[in-house]
Amino acid sequence: MKITILTTFPEMFAPLHTSILGRAEKAGLLAIREVNIRQYSKNKHHNTDDAPFGGGAGMVMLAQPIVDAMRDVQGENFSGRRIYLSPRGETLTQKKAEALAKEDELILLCGHYEGVDQRALDLCIDEEISIGDYVLTGGELAAMVLVDCVARLVPGVLGCEESAVTESFTSGLLEYPQYTRPREFEGLTVPEVLLNGNHAKIVDWQTHEALYITLRRRPEMAKAYLDGRKFTRHEKKVVDGVFERIRAEDDEAERAAEAADGKSADADDECTENQDI
Ligand code: SAM
Repeated sequence: MKITILTTFPEMFAPLHTSILGRAEKAGLLAIREVNIRQYSKNKHHNTDDAPFGGGAGMVMLAQPIVDAMRDVQGENFSGRRIYLSPRGETLTQKKAEALAKEDELILLCGHYEGVDQRALDLCIDEEISIGDYVLTGGELAAMVLVDCVARLVPGVLGCEESAVTESFTSGLLEYPQYTRPREFEGLTVPEVLLNGNHAKIVDWQTHEALYITLRRRPEMAKAYLDGRKFTRHEKKVVDGVFERIRAEDDEAERAAEAADGKSADADDECTENQDI
């Protein structure tokens, strides 16, 4: 997959060329390059921004250097996606990352300051993507997030394709807890089931834990996973086990809360009695 990032701060992208993505680049699975928008500026001082028409705080990135940079990097027969990282775009999700990973080529535009002249977006952007409902100072970190989660889905990049499949959001559930050596750390031990080599039991444990953690943290996600899903008798037993665990925990928490209430009511009575004296 080829990814080109249009930015005024190309030096920010070193992290994309290290670790797993760096290795994938060396193996020829990915080609990630940063292109400095500034080098396309026809402005005397190579400026890339100016004050907004209509007034207001901050600067707006000029259309000309962006449009020229885009036309230059996309060439004649570009058939990928041209994306502007923007807080007003569609929110990036795993599903979106999976769709983008199927493209041969992506060109990402990073805004800065107050944003980008709308005409640059109208002329050469296919879609806007946000990495969340908050505002960053620039699109560079957002582009890195997008590249990282898309590139790792490109076949061969992770080395072990299964890990992308069992991960949170891919299987429809959040991921179960993971452990590695040593077996005991500061008094905490690895669950016995993971040490006994019984693959079927390990899978049951992982399913139980994944469903449990999703029901607790993201109930709407768990509901979407469970709704309409057909379970074998064995799987149903695993699922029922999770609901039993949650019920038992909630009952216990309720009893503890009632006991605490009872204690504080007794304490209040004692206070009142003392006041009467
Ligand atoms: N004035 C813009 C607004 O209110 O929507 C915010 C501009 S922001 C300070 C500068 C640049 O950061 C944007 O042009 C965009 O490229 C990037 N950016 C900021 N927040 C982002 C987000 N949540 N997702 C993706 N890109 C973002």
